[in-house]
Amino acid sequence: MAQGMPGGTGAGALLSILRDGRARTRAELVQLTGLSRSAVSQRIDALLHQRLILPAEETTPSGGRPATAFSFNREARVVLAADLGVTHARIAVSDLGGAVLAERAADLPIDRGPEPTLSWVLDTFRELLAECGHTASDVCGAGVGLPGPVDHESGTAVNPPIMPGWDGFPVPDWLGERLGAPVLVDNDVNIMTLGEHWAVCPEVEHLIFVKAGTGIGCGIIAGRRLHRGARGAAGDIGHIRIPTIDQVQCRCGYVGCLEAVAGGAALVARLRDVGLDVADGRDVVRLTREGNPLAIRLVRQGGREVGSALASIVNFFNPTLIVIGGDLVEAGDHLLAGVREMIYGRSLPLATQSLGIRASELGDRAGVTGAAVMVIERILAPETIDRSVSA
Ligand SMILES: [Zn+2]
Repeated sequence: MAQGMPGGTGAGALLSILRDGRARTRAELVQLTGLSRSAVSQRIDALLHQRLILPAEETTPSGGRPATAFSFNREARVVLAADLGVTHARIAVSDLGGAVLAERAADLPIDRGPEPTLSWVLDTFRELLAECGHTASDVCGAGVGLPGPVDHESGTAVNPPIMPGWDGFPVPDWLGERLGAPVLVDNDVNIMTLGEHWAVCPEVEHLIFVKAGTGIGCGIIAGRRLHRGARGAAGDIGHIRIPTIDQVQCRCGYVGCLEAVAGGAALVARLRDVGLDVADGRDVVRLTREGNPLAIRLVRQGGREVGSALASIVNFFNPTLIVIGGDLVEAGDHLLAGVREMIYGRSLPLATQSLGIRASELGDRAGVTGAAVMVIERILAPETIDRSVSA
C-alpha cells in the first residue's frame, strides 16, 4: 500500500492527503498509508510545527473518546502573483488555497523594459501585502506570467517579439533577491490555462485553453497536467501558417501566421484602415458590443481562422474541452461562433462527439489565479515539503 503512494510516504505525502480530504485523523492516515502510528505522528508534528495543518477536536458519533482531526491551513503563508500583459497588468496576493486576499489591475506597457516594470510589480506587491495585513516574511513565493515565450526552467523570456530588453533578463533572480522568496515565471497563456483548469474544471483530463488577445496562443493540459514541451514552447498556435493568408506579414518575421490575421493587433489595424478610432483589443470589443458591423464581421472571421487551426489540433490531441479566453472573447458570442463553426465542421466526428467549447469563466483573473497556483503546486509538492521538513 505505502510503496504505491504517489509522492512517497513523507510529511509531504501526508499533507497532500489532508489537503484533498482523503483522511483527517491519525487513525485514518495510518490505514491509508500503511505507516506505523508513530511514523504518522512524527510527520504530523513536523507539519504542525510549520503551521501547515491545524488540529481540531472531533466528537465521535458513538460518544467515544474524541479523535483529533487535522485540516490544511491555507492561511499558513501567502503567495504573490503577477499577470503581465502587453499593455496591462494584474497583481494579487493569495492564500495557499488560491483565494485572493488583495489585488490590483493597472495599465502597464511591457515595452518599458524589465527593471521599470518589475520595480512597479515589487512596489505593488508590498502595498498589497500591507493592505491585507501581511509582511514579506509570510511570502512563500511569487509567480509571474509574461506575454511572450518563456524558458520555464530558467524563468527567462526568449526572443520575445514585443518586449524590448526582456530577452534573457533574469526575472527570478532580480525579483527573488528583492522579495527574499523563490520566483517562478511562465508565459501568460500557460498561467491562464493553469488557473482556469485548477479553479473551474480540475476534473477535465485533456484541455486546450486559447488566449485571443493582442496575440494568439494556447495552453495544453494533458492528463490533468500542464504540458510545456521540451523548452516551454508548446501551444504557440499564433504562428501556425495559414495557407490562404500568405501575403500578411507577422511580427515574428514570417508571413501568413494565424496571429497576423486573427490576433487583436491585426483587427485593430484593419479597423484603423477604415478610419475608426481604436487603440487595442478592448476597443475592438467595445465596437462589437456597440454593433459595429465591420468589427463584428472581423471578430467572427478571426474566430473562423482560429477554429480552422484548432480543428487540426482537435484531431491530433483529442481534448475534452476547449476554453477561449483573452480580451477578444469579451466581444459577445461572435468569436466563439466562428471557432465552433470551423471545429465542428472540420474535425473528425469521434474527436468532436463529446467536445465542449466555451468562454473562460475566470476571464481576466485566469492569469493571476494561475500564477498563484503555479507557486502553490511547487511549494506544497510532497518533495518540496519533505525537503523543508528535514531542513
Ligand atoms: Zn508569426
